[in-house]
Amino acid sequence: MASDMETEVQAIDRSLLDCSAEEVAVKWLQATDLPKEVYLHLAYYIPKIYSRGPNPAPQREDMLAQHILLGPMEWYLCGEDPAFGFPKLEQANKPSHLCGRVFKVGEPTYSCRDCAVDPTCVLCMECFLGSIHREHRYRMTTSGGGGFCDCGDTEAWKEGPYCQKHELSSAETAEEEDPLMHLSEDMIARAYNIFAIMFQYAVDILTWEKENELPPGLETLEKSDTYYCMLFNDEVHTYEQVIYTLQKAVNCTQKEAIGFATTVDRDGRRSVRYGDFQYCDQAKSVIVRNTSRQTKPLKVQVMHSSIVAHQSFGLKLLTWLGNIIGYSDGLRRILCQVGLQEGPDGENSSLVDKLMLSDSKLWKGARSVYHQLFMSSLLMDLKYKKLFAIRFARNYRQLQRDFMEDDHERAVSVTALSVQLFTVPTLARMLITEENLMTTIIKTFMDHLRHRDIQGRFQFERYTALQAFKFRRVQSLILDLKYVLITKPTDWSNDLRQKFLEGFDAFLELLKCMQGMDPITRQVGQHIEMEPEWEAAFTLQMKLTHVISMMQDWCALDEKVLIEAYKKCLTVLMQCHSGFTDGEQPIVLSICGHSVETIRYCVSQEKVSIHLPVSRLLAGLHVLLSKSEVAYKFPELLPLSELSPPLLIEHPLRCLVLCAQVHAGMWRRNGFSLVNQIYYYHNVKCRREMFDKDIIMLQTGLSMMDPNHFLMIMLSRFDLYQIFSTPDYGKRFNTENTNKVLLYLVIIFNGEKNRFSPGMGQVNATDEIKREIIHQLSIRPMAHSELVKALPENENKETGMESVIEAVACFKKPGLTGRGLYELKPECTKDFNLYFYHFSRAEQSKAEEAQRKLKRQNREDTALPPPVLPPLSPLFASLINILQSDVMLCIMGTILQWAVEHNGYAWSESMLQRVLHLIGMALQEEKQHLENLNEENVVTFTFTQKISKPGEAPSNSPSILAMLETLQNAPHLEVHKDMIRWILKTFNAIKKLRENSSTSPVPETEGNIIEEGSRDKDKAERKRKAEIARLRREKIMAQMSEMQRHFIDENKELFQQTLEELATSTSRALDNSPTVSDTKLTALGPKQTRVTEQRQVVTCILCQEEQEVKVDSRAMVLAAFVQRSTVLSKNRNKVIQDPEKYDPLFMHPELSCGTHTGSCGHIMHAHCWQRYFDAVQAKEQRRQQRLRVHTSYDVENGEFLCPLCECLSNTVIPLLPPPRGLFNRLDFSDQPNLAQWMRTISQQIKALYILREEESANNSCGSNSEKMDELQLPKGFRPDFQPKNLYSESIKEMLTTFGTAIYKVGLKVHPNEEDLRVPIMCWGSCAYTIQTIEQILTDENKPLFGNLPCRQDDCLTSLTRFAAAHWTVSSLSAVQGHFCRLLASLVPNEKNENLPCILDIDMFHLLVSLVLSFPAIYCQDFSGVSLGTGDLHIFHLVTMAHIVQILLTSSTEENGMDQENPNSEEEAAALTLYKFLCQRTGSALKEMSSGWHLWRSIKAGIMPFLRCSALFFHYLNGVPVPSEIQVTGASQFEHLCSYLSLPNNLICLFQENSKIMNTLVESWCSNNEVNRYLEGKRQAISYARESNKLIDLPDDYSCLINQASNFLCPKSGGDKSRAPTLCLVCGTMLCSQSYCCQTELEGEDVGACTAHTYACGSGVGIFLRVRECQVLFLAGKTKGCFYAPPYLDDYGETDQGLRRGNPLHLCKERFKKIQKLWQQHSITEEIGHAQEANQTLVGIDWQHL
Ligand SMILES: [Zn+2]
Ligand SMILES: [Zn+2]
Ligand SMILES: [Zn+2]
Ligand SMILES: [Zn+2]
Ligand SMILES: [Zn+2]
Ligand SMILES: [Zn+2]
Ligand SMILES: [Zn+2]
Repeated sequence: MASDMETEVQAIDRSLLDCSAEEVAVKWLQATDLPKEVYLHLAYYIPKIYSRGPNPAPQREDMLAQHILLGPMEWYLCGEDPAFGFPKLEQANKPSHLCGRVFKVGEPTYSCRDCAVDPTCVLCMECFLGSIHREHRYRMTTSGGGGFCDCGDTEAWKEGPYCQKHELSSAETAEEEDPLMHLSEDMIARAYNIFAIMFQYAVDILTWEKENELPPGLETLEKSDTYYCMLFNDEVHTYEQVIYTLQKAVNCTQKEAIGFATTVDRDGRRSVRYGDFQYCDQAKSVIVRNTSRQTKPLKVQVMHSSIVAHQSFGLKLLTWLGNIIGYSDGLRRILCQVGLQEGPDGENSSLVDKLMLSDSKLWKGARSVYHQLFMSSLLMDLKYKKLFAIRFARNYRQLQRDFMEDDHERAVSVTALSVQLFTVPTLARMLITEENLMTTIIKTFMDHLRHRDIQGRFQFERYTALQAFKFRRVQSLILDLKYVLITKPTDWSNDLRQKFLEGFDAFLELLKCMQGMDPITRQVGQHIEMEPEWEAAFTLQMKLTHVISMMQDWCALDEKVLIEAYKKCLTVLMQCHSGFTDGEQPIVLSICGHSVETIRYCVSQEKVSIHLPVSRLLAGLHVLLSKSEVAYKFPELLPLSELSPPLLIEHPLRCLVLCAQVHAGMWRRNGFSLVNQIYYYHNVKCRREMFDKDIIMLQTGLSMMDPNHFLMIMLSRFDLYQIFSTPDYGKRFNTENTNKVLLYLVIIFNGEKNRFSPGMGQVNATDEIKREIIHQLSIRPMAHSELVKALPENENKETGMESVIEAVACFKKPGLTGRGLYELKPECTKDFNLYFYHFSRAEQSKAEEAQRKLKRQNREDTALPPPVLPPLSPLFASLINILQSDVMLCIMGTILQWAVEHNGYAWSESMLQRVLHLIGMALQEEKQHLENLNEENVVTFTFTQKISKPGEAPSNSPSILAMLETLQNAPHLEVHKDMIRWILKTFNAIKKLRENSSTSPVPETEGNIIEEGSRDKDKAERKRKAEIARLRREKIMAQMSEMQRHFIDENKELFQQTLEELATSTSRALDNSPTVSDTKLTALGPKQTRVTEQRQVVTCILCQEEQEVKVDSRAMVLAAFVQRSTVLSKNRNKVIQDPEKYDPLFMHPELSCGTHTGSCGHIMHAHCWQRYFDAVQAKEQRRQQRLRVHTSYDVENGEFLCPLCECLSNTVIPLLPPPRGLFNRLDFSDQPNLAQWMRTISQQIKALYILREEESANNSCGSNSEKMDELQLPKGFRPDFQPKNLYSESIKEMLTTFGTAIYKVGLKVHPNEEDLRVPIMCWGSCAYTIQTIEQILTDENKPLFGNLPCRQDDCLTSLTRFAAAHWTVSSLSAVQGHFCRLLASLVPNEKNENLPCILDIDMFHLLVSLVLSFPAIYCQDFSGVSLGTGDLHIFHLVTMAHIVQILLTSSTEENGMDQENPNSEEEAAALTLYKFLCQRTGSALKEMSSGWHLWRSIKAGIMPFLRCSALFFHYLNGVPVPSEIQVTGASQFEHLCSYLSLPNNLICLFQENSKIMNTLVESWCSNNEVNRYLEGKRQAISYARESNKLIDLPDDYSCLINQASNFLCPKSGGDKSRAPTLCLVCGTMLCSQSYCCQTELEGEDVGACTAHTYACGSGVGIFLRVRECQVLFLAGKTKGCFYAPPYLDDYGETDQGLRRGNPLHLCKERFKKIQKLWQQHSITEEIGHAQEANQTLVGIDWQHL
């Protein structure tokens, strides 16, 4: 069956290919009924092309569709071969000057903060780079897809609308030219015809809803029984649910299910089954049944295959149309015309209308295709954009209704196109005036918020989940409203006025529904049971904030509009408050002879609401009246007389009282919802249209009424009336409330927005923002982003900060960590106001503290007097009188009185502080008045006079001034003393001013005002001070002892450091302090410099006991971390395939995977550590069982944290005395030369082999002693000798423990201490670790010695000593075997074949292994040869092999510039050696004439080896280092050679041993692999190996974003990757964190990053998550952390998550720091620390990234 079908398909294919596009087109051109003809063609072919099987075959379909379906259309359209037709069209076209590039997901977009009309105006990268905005302040974001480049749109940019590219084209086109001009009549007619038919067809088929029947004209005669079971996407079901359901319903594998789900999610639908109707229907019912339990079921349809086929083509067609109109603007216009042409059914019957109105019924893929077509057609043609906008506005209500029912996100809804239309200023204006868009939007919005209470206010309380969902969706309407209002009109027509005010009416209706919503009543007795819903109301308020502000901005622009709006707003406010005084008992308040009538109202007993948008809007408009001077120009037009001040202030006042009471803790039982509301009320996001406006309203009310009345009402609302009206009223009252009242009074008086600034007219926005910044920075220096967060943003997301910051702050650049900070300029501190109205309580006290500290540092007095304020604007001028009103003076007097008699009343210092501040403000005000005095005006502000007067009878209280004088000396008011003194001083200055102004001017004498005070007073004062000082000392002492207790906890880190120093200082004593005069220090060999052993005493960090490191004492260990490493790797693709069988004896020079050992250097007793480790393990296992939490370390893998520094560790290194001394026997005999030594060794080896064979033979069968006879043991060689192990049991145990750990980690196998490879791994780790350290030192250009931190020094010492001692706990014969094989690689023998050639051996690894395994043979040699002799010969031999290796692989390019010093001895020798090599390799080696060049390559190539060797022998033998190699210098090479007992002319080694060396070199060169290399058949590493670096990163971060946006997921065929992630080690881009790229690793599904680390970094990875701008560290499957990226903005801050969008540039230093972490193998450690610090990191599923 299946095969039949396939052949059938192929057969059809062939017949299909015979169809000729040209012939079809000709037929069409002659047709009388073209639509019918075309439909016949489509009906016949489409089912044959599309949907022929269960899976789409896009390539085949596209090919056939182009050939059979689109081809004829193109022929028809062009009237000739489209291959000629289209280029012609393109050439004739005068292209549009709009860029219009539609953004892909993740593509970078740019907006200019200086020139963009609003933040939605963006440029593509190409246009941006060619524009002037490059040099401006710009913002960069990544597109979420959809939307297009606004380059060329003159309405989008205030300046520079064109980039270079589009400017060019715009110059050629006249503005209003008809694009049809460039097309022939014929062409126009044909285009109309074909576009009309095809567009109609596409719309019909895509909106077709029948599942089993085609539209008329498309049905074919025979109908097959082939159906699809089509699954649609929704936003309700999760990925996992869909995958699970599919596996059940259509019986597919999980992989297939994931594939289906991914496509459904991306395209909106996918067929999940193909077959006959019943077969598909069955799957459908299973899916529906399975998903209908909790939610509505998944949408599934069984569709006939022909419908699916036509729909596939319909989509293809729309894309095709989009492409075709790209050739010519004329064609585009024709398509627009076709699309908008009204159909036979009248209104809403155009194709565009039809599509829009069925938007919510279409699947995702179809929507995005037609949206794209709209964007490239309607939105690119200015004429039709306008017509389309009108259609869109007319359908607005319906579209929104559909969107509300639809469950897809807004991005895939046609309603999202609003941003493209409404943000165009001319369109927005046109739509407002002609289509009444403002009103439409607001009314539509109101339509969807139906729930109201009896007063008609919104009620969110009983929202169901569905309603809440709708509420979220409906919020996008506010966004639309914002778009419409975002550009303000410059000139107003009457129409615009009328329509705006109509919209304003609708808006007021909306606000009216919010006025008083969510009322609250104080809960007494019981705590509330359920937290009431408050978020919805606040969300609404928050979203509307900008709209409210913009409404005011619009009103401010036109006087008529402002007057009307003010009237309307007042009317609505009256309506809201009608019945406000009904039923309330009026009461009369009176203080100081003033009385006022008000109502009895108590916030703590009645309902109160925090939502008062109508009052607040009125307050805003009232300020505008003042600002725009309308109030003075047209007072007759304003209803000012209708205003009732007490009514205006009532509700805002209640709101403030509520805040005060909540802060005072009176509303605790109302729960957190209230606390949250109060928080947002003051929060920077809301306060502009909430708290700020309430304050303005109070100012407004106050400016219109008697201040005494105002104060009495205020006191009454705060429940304080009784206290101030009856002087001896109770002693218990709420001080908090009084504090608040005073605070608000300060604030009200400050009159923030209503002051003039001298010479500038009003206090403008700049001054306001300056003041905000000054006060933020008074708290502490802040980073740019912190400031931005603390400042309110306008609708354009701007705070206006950049324009003023320079004036008030200095910028301090960041270091390697942290961020750049702004610091307040010293001259700005005078503007600091302690009671700044936006300070929270915490901020206020922090700022106070900081400012006082600053003053103390500058040795000034610590008074923080109120700043001098700019004068008030006339409408608010009367505000000032509140300060000298009788009631105010009474309040001040009363509080000062309390302070004087400070025991008894519930009095607080902060109360006094506020009163002092108020007095200070009054004084400042009076002083200013006097200073600005001119002849006309009389000073009516006489505060100083009033406070000098004593109270009248009956109280006869002293004057305020007198009380201040008394308080000046009060011992309990030490802190306020400076302030009181400042007040008195200012008072005197004013007095002087007054006298002067009334008499003749006298020069200023401020500064030497003598305070009244006699000598007696002075004496008393001194005594008092002494007493205070004594008390303070006592207090401090008490505090100290308390603090000391905490000190150790708090300063843990400090303590650790000292401990660390202590711990390491002992071991340091050994090194770098030469005990021998460093005339000539030799690290190895028989001439090795003798060092006297020093006692090494160390302290255990766990038990604090001291212990000497000795052979036979208890073992001491260092915490250590062993890890596999690829940091030095030259081949990242090499992975050990079968670790169980892997032979690690020889390290390949590619160094593809090494074992690195690191340590924090902390020393413990082995048994102390063991106890600690067991305890940790037990505890963790219990914890994991109980809590199921991960920890930052993996106990099961032997990981633990160093008990002192919490450094991640997984084993311990034993500390040992120098091991070489133990086995070296004194040497009396002459030491053999190389040749002799090698002969002896070879004999010994041979003997060993015979013995070994003997043994195995003995074991298997009888005896075979013939060979034994043959055996002639070399002199003094006793193979039967078993050396005694001198180490204590505990040291032996630790040798095994650490050795096994290296083996386990290095090979990734199960621990097995018996394994013969254990010693090899130990030597390897020693060699590898030395190599990494040498590399780091070279990279940093640091000298080899004297620069390592103690911990590394200690680590290398113990690691080397350990590796040298490890053979004592392994099998002797195994180690001997290793030695033999190792040596055989250089000195061939017949027993060992198939060893790697010298090109494939890392010589340093070989050296270390040979030297460290040698004692296993040497211990049986009693001939009197010293161990050092062996070391030296081995070293020389390996060095020579390395030289040959270097010469063989040196890059053979010979540069012309030769020799400073030709024909030196070394060069001649090098040349001779090279010639010898050439000869031996059969002249395969390239001829080389320059000895200079050769010698230079040898020197450069061997340097790393020599440096590593120096480190190695230094740590092995403990010979101090000559001071010359402790610094960087020119003659390093010579000093190294000398230290290593090498001749400066290395080639001498060959010459001295020429006899034996010639043979050896010959054997190395004749190797087959070497020949293959020389013949170019294989590669080899050349020397010196280049150091590995992280990849190069571009300076501009957007390059990376762009690169990532072009990156396609490698697995899901051409899809964009959602989380493109860059490996910083090798530069591979990965598709992270998604299903598509998960792979299986060791039986678990892991993400692309984790999988990549296994090959690239052997488990450790460093990535850059490009979309997030975040560095990711991974280690293994369970460990990871995020790290700050090396990209900073101009303010020295990173932008993780790319939220701020400031341009980012590479910070080289920070990138180097990351690179260093990597090179030092500290990534895992870094992760450990991050996870310890932040527990949430532990819970992340790192393996899925
Ligand atoms: Zn562009
Ligand atoms: Zn451009
Ligand atoms: Zn610009
Ligand atoms: Zn101990
Ligand atoms: Zn430590
Ligand atoms: Zn990589
Ligand atoms: Zn992928």
